Order: sequence, then C-alpha cells, then structure tokens
Amino acid sequence: MLNATSKDASADRQLAAGPTGAGSEVASPASRWRPLLLAAVIIGLLIMARVFGLGERLGALRDWIQSLGAWGPLVFFGLYVAAAVAAIPGSALTVAGGVLFGSFWGVILTLHAATLGAALAFLVSRSLAREAVVRWLSQNRNFQRLDRLTAEHGAIIVALTRLVPIFPYNLLNYGFGLTKVPFWTYLLWTWLCMLPGTVLYVVGADAVFQAVARGEVPWTLVGVLAAVLAVLTVLVRQARQQLQQKELAAAAAPPSPAVAASPAAPELAPQDEYNEALLAQVRPRSWRNPTPASRYNLVVIGAGTAGLVCAAGAAGLGAKVALIERRLLGGDCLNFGCVPSKALIRSSRAAAAVREALAFGVQVPPGVAVDFPQVMARLRRLRAEISHHDSVQRFQELGVEVFLGEARFRGPDTIEVAGQTLRFAKAVIATGGRPVQPAIPGLAEAGFLTNETVFALTERPPRLLVLGGGPIGCELAQAFRRLGSQVTLLHKYDRIMNREDPEAAALVQNRFLQEGIQLLLNATPRRISRTATGKVVHYDCAGQAAEIEVDDILVGAGRAPNVEGLNLGAAGVQYEGGKGRGILVNDRLQTSNPRIYAAGDVCLPYQFTHLADAAARLVIQNALFFGRKKFSALTIPWCTYTDPEVAHVGLGETEARKKGIPYQTWIKPLSEVDRAILDGETAGFVKILTKAGTAKILGATIVARHAGEMISEVATAMAAGLGLGALAGVIHPYPTQAEAIRQTGDLYNRSRLTPTLKGWLSRYLAWRR
Ligand SMILES: Cc1cc2nc3c(=O)[nH]c(=O)nc-3n(C[C@H](O)[C@H](O)[C@H](O)COP(=O)(O)OP(=O)(O)OC[C@H]3O[C@@H](n4cnc5c(N)ncnc54)[C@H](O)[C@@H]3O)c2cc1C
Repeated sequence: MLNATSKDASADRQLAAGPTGAGSEVASPASRWRPLLLAAVIIGLLIMARVFGLGERLGALRDWIQSLGAWGPLVFFGLYVAAAVAAIPGSALTVAGGVLFGSFWGVILTLHAATLGAALAFLVSRSLAREAVVRWLSQNRNFQRLDRLTAEHGAIIVALTRLVPIFPYNLLNYGFGLTKVPFWTYLLWTWLCMLPGTVLYVVGADAVFQAVARGEVPWTLVGVLAAVLAVLTVLVRQARQQLQQKELAAAAAPPSPAVAASPAAPELAPQDEYNEALLAQVRPRSWRNPTPASRYNLVVIGAGTAGLVCAAGAAGLGAKVALIERRLLGGDCLNFGCVPSKALIRSSRAAAAVREALAFGVQVPPGVAVDFPQVMARLRRLRAEISHHDSVQRFQELGVEVFLGEARFRGPDTIEVAGQTLRFAKAVIATGGRPVQPAIPGLAEAGFLTNETVFALTERPPRLLVLGGGPIGCELAQAFRRLGSQVTLLHKYDRIMNREDPEAAALVQNRFLQEGIQLLLNATPRRISRTATGKVVHYDCAGQAAEIEVDDILVGAGRAPNVEGLNLGAAGVQYEGGKGRGILVNDRLQTSNPRIYAAGDVCLPYQFTHLADAAARLVIQNALFFGRKKFSALTIPWCTYTDPEVAHVGLGETEARKKGIPYQTWIKPLSEVDRAILDGETAGFVKILTKAGTAKILGATIVARHAGEMISEVATAMAAGLGLGALAGVIHPYPTQAEAIRQTGDLYNRSRLTPTLKGWLSRYLAWRR
C-alpha cells in the first residue's frame, strides 16, 4: 500500500527538534518531486507495456486470480496483511490490487488489508517494545516531547504521516506503536488518511492497465491523479497549519515543571552513601514528571503501601495509572516505619542475646558493647537495599506514570500536581498518616524525635523518654533499652499496650521492668523545660507532680490522617481532620464522591502495612471492576514486635463482651510446650476464642518470641472457615512453638468428651475386646 509521507517526515523531525520552524511554510523537497515521481511511474509502465507486452501478461494474471473464485481476494488480502506485519513495502501490492481486482474492489481490499496489517504491527510494537523504549529514553527530552505531542495531537500527526506517501508506511506502523498515540485514534486516522493515497495508486493502476490493454492514452488516470493530488495538498497543508499553531501555543506555555517545583524532599540524615542510594530509588534528584495523559483509569495519591499496591495492581491489569507522591515512594513503611524499626529491633535482639548468653552456658568475654553508629548504619544500608521494590524506576517499568509533587483536587475528577492537571475516571486517596504532636507546653521548643527523625540518629541518646505506650512506643522503648539507652516509658493509661489482651500486655510489661525500662503509667506530661544538661519533663502521675530529666524525647502518641491540603471539598469528599477518622468511606472503601476511593492509614481503623495492602487490593476490584468486596469481611491479624511479640487476630475478649457474643477461651501456656522450654522462652501463651458451644474461631492472641509468624495459622483457619477442632488434626513438626496451636485444638476436642460420651465409648471398646 502507500509509502507514506514526506512532508510529515519533516514535520516529525521538526517536532522532535523543537518548534523552531513552527509557523513557517517550508515546502518539503519530497512534495515537489511527488508528481514527477508518479508521472515517471506511469511513463515507465506505458513503455514496459509496449516493449514487454505487459498488458497481456497482467491480463493473464487477472484471469488466473479470477479463476480462484472467492479464494482469490482472500489469498491476496492475507498476503497483504502478512507483508504489512513483516514490514515489506506494500506499494507494489497496492498497484497489483488495482490491476487484479479493478478500482472498486482493489481499493476495498488493499485499504482494509493495509489497515489491519498496520494495526497488528502497531499492537506488536506497543505491547513488546514501548515499555523498554520508555525506560531507555526516560530522561531523553526529545522523546518525552514526542511522547507528549503524540499523546496530545496524535490524530493530526497520524493523519499527516499517512497522507503523504513517501515515508515508509510499514515502518511507521511499528514507530507509532512506540509512542503515546491512542490505538483507536491511530486506527481511525490511518484508515481515513490512507484512503486518498490508496485510491490514487489503485485507480491509477487500474486505469493504466485498462489503457494499456486498449492501446490508449490514460486520460482517466490523469484526471484522477490531478483530483487526488489537489485534495491531498489541501489536507496536508491544513493539518500542518493546525499542528504548527498548537506547537506555537505549547511553546508559549510555561515548560513542564520538573520535580523541583514540588515541595522539597524531607531531609534524610545523615547524607551518606546509603541514604543517597535510597533517594536514588525513591526520589531520584534528576526526576522530571511526565506529561499527563488526556485521562487516566486510576490516579493514586500517595505512594506508601496502599498507593503502591493500588498502582501496581491496576497497571498490571492494563489500566492507565498515575501515581502521585509528595515525599518518598515507599511511604512510612519503607522509610520511617516497619523497615527501619525492624532493622533496629533485630540489632537490639542480638544485643539482648549476648547479655542473656550466660543463661545458656555461653561465656561472653567482658567488654562486649553495642556499636550504636554501626547499628544505625546497618539499618540505613538494609533500608536502601530493600528500596528497589518501591523505586520510581520499578513503577515506571510496571507502566505507572509517576508524578512527584503535592496532589490537590481541583474538581470531582481532576487533580493538580506540580502545575499539571490530571483527569481521572477513578482515584484513590492513600495519603497515610503522620505522628501527632501532643500539645505539651515547651515540647516544640525543647525539640523531640518522632518516627520520621529517630532513625536518622547516629549517636545513642543516653537518657530517652518515650511518650506513649502503644505499639510504636513499646517497640522502640525496648529496642533503645537493649541498645544501651536508659529508657523511661510514659503512658497515660494504667498499662502499656492498652488495646491488647490484658494478660498479653502484662507479660510484656513484666519483661520491660526486668530489662530496666522505667514505666510511668497513668501519667500525664504537663510541660517540658530545658536545662543545661537536658530536657526536663514535668508530669503528673497518680495525682502527684513529678519530673524527670532526659536527653531526648521520642513521641509515639498516636497518628493523624493526612487529609489537609488535598482540597477535598472541591472533590466532594467528606473527611474528619485532626486526630479524627480521616477520609470517610463506606464498607467498599468508597468516599462520598463515588469515583474516589480511599485505602490505608488515611481511612482505616487499624494502621498496618498488610492491611493497607489488603485494602488496596479490595479497592482495585471495587473501583475498576464493579467489585462488591467489603472491608468488614476481612480477617485482620497484627503483631507488635516487642520481645516477646504480641500477635492478635479477630475478636478479643473485651470486644466479644462488648458485642454481646457468647464465647469460650482455650489457653495453652508456653511453659507447657517443649520447644518453648528448650528455648528458654516460656513467658507466653496461645489463647483462642471460640463461639460458645461451637468450634468457630472468633479470634486469638499469641504471646511468644515469634508470635507474628504463628498467628498466620489461626488467621488462615479463620479465613478458610476451619474450626478449632480441625487445627488439632493438623500435624505440626516437633518440637516447635507452633505446636501450642495444635494443643489448643486438643483442649477444645477433649472438652467435647462429656462423661456420657466417654461412658458410651468405654462400653463400645469393652465390646470390641
Ligand atoms: C515506627 C513505625 C513502625 C511500624 N511498624 C509496622 C509493622 O511492623 N507492621 C505493620 O504492618 N505496620 C507498621 N507500621 C504502620 C505502617 O507503616 C503503616 O500502616 C503503613 O505505612 C500505611 O501505609 P499507607 O500507604 O496507608 O500510608 P503511608 O505509608 O503513610 O503513605 C502515604 C504516602 O502518601 C504521601 N502523601 C500524603 N499526602 C500527599 C499529597 N497530598 N500528595 C501526594 N502524596 C501525599 C505521603 O508522603 C506518603 O508517602 C509502622 C508505623 C510506624 C510509624
């Protein structure tokens, strides 16, 4: 078919090089040669016809094709499509179409075969090569520009390159697949704009063939040629003018903002090789935001766990996805939460193991000490090593368009980021939370640590006060104590971990006291003052005023959802700010704007990474695929990584009582479990709640060194609807601490052996003797 455009090849070059020639009418040399070229073809055909008797030969070929009946056009069509996909020039086949099938059927067959071949080649290139090319040229400004132009003016560019039959049409098919031109735009304009050229070639060939056969001069051809060329010239000229006008407008507009236009990345101290490596993954300094697509299936705000899972999942299913992050990809979990805290806890466990070694018969030479700067360097190294999972590059490779900057709604279906506007069919708010700063006079002036700054320490605080006895406060208090700090934990309730099972919390509390953590319970800080030697915390405890001097204060007193600054009113999304519930969602995690969903800490009652992940999966189904998944149907386990760990799933006793659900508890102390005895880890238990009179598991609490690993077994049973009795039948390797779960199942099964049932069994066995 057509050998596409000349003028448009030059237009393409201009586009790639910049709008320098915009507005000027530069006649391409190819356009001047085109009529001469066609004339030369016609004269050549006429001479060949005379010299070689081409008329008779073509006539014989046509007779043969016609003798094939319906198969003739089909074979020709198939050959044409195959030639197009194989990038073999198709103009000879187009001419043959005119000769073999006449003007009408020649145009129909060649136009549609060429369009189908072009579509297939486009799809091959788009699905196999576009991603790699985008990655390869991600920082190439010319490519970015071409990408933007094809996204915005795809129709005009395709039209231009199709109308002028010079640039190889079969290469263009693959070339366009590498750009952002939408498929249907490409298909429509390819079909439409190949029509004039196809008519030109096919009708021309048919007319020449007819004239040659009759030995006449092809006046019809000359007329058709003149008409088609006139139409073509007008069309090309208009399309070029439009494109140039748009280019001028684009050139006058402010340039696409780079990441520098967005709020600065948080300080990642210290500035060492590990933090540099982390930044290179989760907020590359040279990053430039892409040009937004005309509309996205899904725009995700926040690249913490919830946002990343949403974006990757949706892009993996073929959705057009944009992901916006104002700070670091990976959010709290990677940068300031789970990952650094667990690295710190591992070091603290190593320190504790050395201290406890003597109890296991291991002599540790004196002088063994914690090298705190090394502990923190290990933390930073491992965090950087893990960070590639959440990197900008990885998400780009997954097909997600990453925008760095603060997101702000402009309307019910538009979001602004770094000066660009993104339109969406669906959006997800996954902006997470932040540490609450308690309103204690003098706290801000004295200075304090939070989870966002504590992992940047390079020197151990000799005296540390931890404010808050929830999971974060408890984990970090024990870790710092084991690493050598003198730690005081101040908590407003009468026991630490007040959301957990009281017996579980009591075990951890005892361990804290044994390890030398000072506990200030039922305590309220009143003010903070500074002295030459440290920070003095003035507090009330059980009605008594008291004070304590420390070097640092670590605040772990709750989290607040990140809802401010999103301009949620413009999107019609209801929320509670401050320490409130955050974004208000229904059971399907949909907000008051039906096209906007929320996931993760910004809207959920429990704040865990695995829950943010589960919520994101639920949102993908509900938002993109008419899913009806309910948050309330999830079975949610969690774990606090103190030593021993406290893990929980489902209902606790307090909740069951509050809900009026009758229950039974089944408890196996670890002091009765062989492996726990051998490990010297008997302070713990497995407690499982069942619905009274049934085996249905309502919930469980496990206190053990690796309770977080063990709780998954009970969570699996609950999710699969297995009763406690069934767990007794699961063979566990001996000796493991997880055997305690099976033994809890045994307790339940034995309870079913009532005296009456036991009597009947005894009689049956006596009869069998
Ligand atoms: C010290 C600590 C330890 C933890 N340990 C564990 C653990 O062991 N296990 C566990 O399951 N959970 C743990 N958590 C909780 C866990 O980190 C969170 O539940 C999880 O990170 C929530 O993910 P998210 O995606 O909802 O929010 P986040 O991870 O907070 O991500 C939200 C993202 O949105 C971005 N954002 C906010 N506003 C905007 C905006 N307007 N525009 C663009 N971007 C925006 C933020 O910069 C952030 O990157 C811990 C938390 C802390 C603080």
